[in-house]
Amino acid sequence: MQPLLYLASMKLENNMDTADTTEMMGDDHISTSAVTPMRSDAFDMSDEEKMKSIEKDMHHVLHTLGLDLTDDSLQGTPKRIAKMFVQEIFSGLDPKRKPEASTFNNSYNYGEMLVEKNITLYSTCEHHFLPIVGKAHVAYISSGKVIGLSKMNRIVDYYAKRPQVQERLTMQIVQELQKALGTEDVACVIDAKHLCVNSRGIRDIDSSTVTSEFGGKFKEPNVRKEFLNYIKLDTIY
Ligand SMILES: [Zn+2]
Repeated sequence: MQPLLYLASMKLENNMDTADTTEMMGDDHISTSAVTPMRSDAFDMSDEEKMKSIEKDMHHVLHTLGLDLTDDSLQGTPKRIAKMFVQEIFSGLDPKRKPEASTFNNSYNYGEMLVEKNITLYSTCEHHFLPIVGKAHVAYISSGKVIGLSKMNRIVDYYAKRPQVQERLTMQIVQELQKALGTEDVACVIDAKHLCVNSRGIRDIDSSTVTSEFGGKFKEPNVRKEFLNYIKLDTIY
């Protein structure tokens, strides 16, 4: 059985002085808030301007590493990275890309738990800028509203496309669905591999990290157990 680092419903508190956290944290992954830390001028630049600026910066990084950027294979790399950052892997930083979480009335009165499991998740560790790859499992109990199944995948994808910390990602998905569905009864479990752990540092290729957030009725042991039974992760208890 693969070792699991289990972080149950971590309640993260903003109790660290950011100035001295870098050294303290080392390779540990600690987030300081459920909200992605962004500056108020985050969207003063257009996407085009951001890509131009990042291209220059990446050119500098590769040059500093001693790479020959006139080589055919490398000359397009700074531009490719800039485009990938802004338009793909970090595109979820921009609220205008947030998926419309349209809901509809639960006309067939389905009052049981709805579970969307094995949602493929690609994110990026904000401490090392290396991939986080895994599965998200999301559940809710309708209080009258239901949401399209593909919307749940889109919400996971939107919050994953940011520099992330897995605990924060788990909370952001739950909070977004709680808002859209008008109920506290939402839960999310994420089981993911962090390439910063698997491919470097301690190089533990088998470990994965499980995070969970249980809202409302999901705090009740029997409801939580039912959800975990659907996703076959109940053995971690
Ligand atoms: Zn990392």
